[in-house]
Amino acid sequence: METLEEGAVSAESLTAKIRAAAREREGDLVALATELIGFDTTARDLGDPARDEAALQEHLAQRLRAAGAEVELITYGPGVPGSERQVPPALSFDGRPQLIARFPPAAPQPHGRSLVFNGHVDAVSCEPVSEWTSDPLAAVVRDGRLYGRGACDMKGGVAAMVVAAEILADLRVPLAGELIVNTVTDEEYCGAGAAACVTAGLRADAAIVPEPSTLETWVACRGILSPTITVQGRPGHAEAAQPHWRDGGAVNAIDKMMVVLEEVRALHAGWQARPEHVHPMMRPPSIVTTMISGGEWWVSFPASCRATLDITYLPVQADAGGFGTRVEAEVEAAVRRACERDDWLAEHPPEVTWSVDLPPNEVDPGADIVASLTRAAALSDRDNPLETLDSWYDASAFTRIAGMPAVAFGPTGRDGGRPLPHTVDEWVGVADLVATAETLALAAVDFIGVSR
Ligand SMILES: [Zn+2]
Repeated sequence: METLEEGAVSAESLTAKIRAAAREREGDLVALATELIGFDTTARDLGDPARDEAALQEHLAQRLRAAGAEVELITYGPGVPGSERQVPPALSFDGRPQLIARFPPAAPQPHGRSLVFNGHVDAVSCEPVSEWTSDPLAAVVRDGRLYGRGACDMKGGVAAMVVAAEILADLRVPLAGELIVNTVTDEEYCGAGAAACVTAGLRADAAIVPEPSTLETWVACRGILSPTITVQGRPGHAEAAQPHWRDGGAVNAIDKMMVVLEEVRALHAGWQARPEHVHPMMRPPSIVTTMISGGEWWVSFPASCRATLDITYLPVQADAGGFGTRVEAEVEAAVRRACERDDWLAEHPPEVTWSVDLPPNEVDPGADIVASLTRAAALSDRDNPLETLDSWYDASAFTRIAGMPAVAFGPTGRDGGRPLPHTVDEWVGVADLVATAETLALAAVDFIGVSR
């Protein structure tokens, strides 16, 4: 494989041209990110109508066609075959097209490889809007930061990857393989768009996702599960003496939920101590009770109680298909242990329902795509620290479905340790946008190779 460092095509001057082009396009980058933020692509709840997804994708399609790409806008679905644990089978993509823009190689070379830049175009809700300093959908630059919903997660990253591809096209860099720009919907909902594209045949030798990784490379992320547990009680007057439940007495569903949650907490604690959960770069898996509700009236024993958990699991816990079935089985076993401790629960077993299962991602830190990003960062006078994400993003669609190594490299993600995605006054550094576009372009040249 020919890299920028050892390439025969005046690599030094190409690097200098790419770096200069990225700096020259700072205004264009900010303008494109601002345009993208202006489209309302607020993440859906199941059943929500499409918003401005199609208009945004059409806007990008026109721009990428003008740069020389062959562009397809594809409406898949419903559902994504083989990803039923992740994507509800009835999920409709109506009004939510996926974009695949292919920049064909100058002259395909035997040594050439292909690369995908992937980014999601949906963003989380702007609420509470009243707390924003300025309109979240009308992005503005203040003190070198572009503020708006999706600025860092990840319309800024999408703008950077589009501009990176345009830079290479404008400079007529003779890429030895295909560069594909892929923008998808529904990452914030369940990763449906990327899963649909890869399932339908989107392939390359690797993928880079410019999520807000703070100009570091994320080589892994966790999987996510979220069960809801419902415990039944038996209503009765809270201030009246109650006989034993076998004699018709009331049963407090909230107290019974505490028995269940004790077992769940014990499972969480046990996970922290398991040797196989020691990962060189990731914290152990966790279970957090994130929502609870129970009771009907303040003077009545609660007849039911519901609790929802947020579970993050490590790649090592995934099953052979990449999903969290083994984790699910452990949680259900914990609920059964609670039933063994409590006669009422034994005869009235809690109901456990599972929503989406977002599969984890892991790429060998020695993978070629990581090496390309590290060399690209060095050409930009930066280090390339390798990191992982405790949460989730679209990379697993590529690794799980197609065996394509996928990593994240993108602009700002933190402000003094505080994560910026999904916050009020979300921002992205303008200098980081330029650095992302530059590094993505350099990494593409390094990974794909150039024709002699
Ligand atoms: Zn994101």
